Amino acid sequence: MKYDLHMHTHYSRCSNLKPQTILKLAKKRRLDGIAITDHHEIKGALEVKKLNNGKDFEVIIGEEISTNYGDVLVYYLNKKIDAIDFYEAVDEAKKQGALIVIAHPFRTTLVHNHKFQLPLEKVKNKIDAVECFNARTLPGDNKKADNAADKLSIAKTAGSDSHFFFEIGTAHTIFDGSLRKALKTKKTRIEGTIMFGAFGGALSYLRKIIY
Ligand SMILES: [Zn+2]
Ligand SMILES: [Zn+2]
Repeated sequence: MKYDLHMHTHYSRCSNLKPQTILKLAKKRRLDGIAITDHHEIKGALEVKKLNNGKDFEVIIGEEISTNYGDVLVYYLNKKIDAIDFYEAVDEAKKQGALIVIAHPFRTTLVHNHKFQLPLEKVKNKIDAVECFNARTLPGDNKKADNAADKLSIAKTAGSDSHFFFEIGTAHTIFDGSLRKALKTKKTRIEGTIMFGAFGGALSYLRKIIY
C-alpha cells in the first residue's frame, strides 16, 4: 500500500485544494489511500471521504492540531478535536481510537519555528508514529526525525503536506495490510521528494496574507 498521510483542503486557509481535485489526483498518481489533515477542521476530510466510491482507495479522516507543543496529526477521527493542549488532544484522540503522529518534529523555516517542543522520548508511549518525511521540510530536519525514530524505535510515516495540486503524492508511507497494524508493528517504509515543497510553502505564505 502507498499512502500520502498529510494534506490540506481549502478548509485550511493556506490551501486552495478542492475535495474532488484531491481525490482525482491521488488516484491518478497511483496512491492507495490518503489522509486529509486540515488545521483544526475535518469538514474537508468528510467531503473527500463522501466523494470516494472506490473500494480499493481509502480516505482517512484526519486533522492537524497545532498544540501548545507543536503540530500533531491524528487519523481515523469520528469528530473534530478542539483541544489545543497536547495532552488533552492526545486523550481526546485516544478516546476516539484515533492514531497519533507527531508532525515534522524538527521543522525549521525562515519564517517561524515549527519544532515540536517536547522530547520525543517523553511522548513516545503516547503516540503511534513520527512523521519522518514531510515534503515541506528541509532534508536535514527530516533526517533528524528519522534518526530519532530509529533510536527510540518509533514507527515512521511520510506525507506531502500538500496545499496545492502539484504537491499531492510527493511523499509516500508504504506498508502491507492496514495502516493501523503496520504502525503498531513498526513496519512502514517512507519515501518522497521535497522538490515541490519550497514553492508550495511560499504560495501558502502568500495565500495566508491575501485571504
Ligand atoms: Zn504542520
Ligand atoms: Zn500540514
